[in-house]
Amino acid sequence: MTDTNPIGIHALVWVGDTSPASVQTAVRQSAACGYDILEFSLHDSLNLDRSATRKLLEENGLRAACSRGLARDADISSDHPTVVARGQRLLQESLDVTADIGATVLTGALYSAFGKAPAPLTKTGRDKVVGVLKELAAEAAARGVTLGLEICNRYETNVVNTAREALALADDIGSDNVMIHLDTYHMNIEEDDLVTPVKDVGDRLGYVHIGENHRGFGALGAIGYRGPVTFESFSSAVLASGLSNDLAIWRNLWDDGEDLARKAHTFIAAGLANGHAIAAP
Ligand code: MN
Repeated sequence: MTDTNPIGIHALVWVGDTSPASVQTAVRQSAACGYDILEFSLHDSLNLDRSATRKLLEENGLRAACSRGLARDADISSDHPTVVARGQRLLQESLDVTADIGATVLTGALYSAFGKAPAPLTKTGRDKVVGVLKELAAEAAARGVTLGLEICNRYETNVVNTAREALALADDIGSDNVMIHLDTYHMNIEEDDLVTPVKDVGDRLGYVHIGENHRGFGALGAIGYRGPVTFESFSSAVLASGLSNDLAIWRNLWDDGEDLARKAHTFIAAGLANGHAIAAP
């Protein structure tokens, strides 16, 4: 256990796809800006050359994490067995990619389709989520991978919108290698404040997404969190249009990924240092 949190960056800050040239750009630029972890979205992992990516990460001293949500026709929270089965296959493929590139974290909305749900989660749907993720967690454990439950806002999932709901889901899955993933963007929409959820999750917190200028670092220090803090920000300057529309990127906050990445690293490193200092007795 190191004394500082590894700082991650989402590959979509750099590139909109996972072609060999794009992966090379993302890896080299992330390392050059001082990041420790590069997070790949597996929405577009068909082009991903797994062994070349693994080698490139190793050569550049970077760790990797993978993330994804599911799709309407491949969704383990569905009432329909064929849709659940397709979702389960998608998760298994994603676990393969994660392990093959040498990443140790697979996180995101692993429990449902990404997007505004047409109706509340059903009991059948929730039971499916628990059953499928329990199985996936066992396979992941055998491959040295930890699964994350990223808590997303109501417009992106109907399965877990708050830390309390995610803790209850993790309890029901009951696997040691399933952790909670908080994202300040979603917390800002669904939680009463940015501190209580961090304290509630406590030592089950395994991954954090940070994308905006909130001072949520003190709470991470207070619970002694030393896991990854990954900078996630999207702009249609980089994103493919389909994903850009799914994420509701109607207003671009940046167009220069490198400038953004450098500033974000400085800001996060300083925030973490201060947060931990504040938490120290
Ligand atoms: Mn996120």
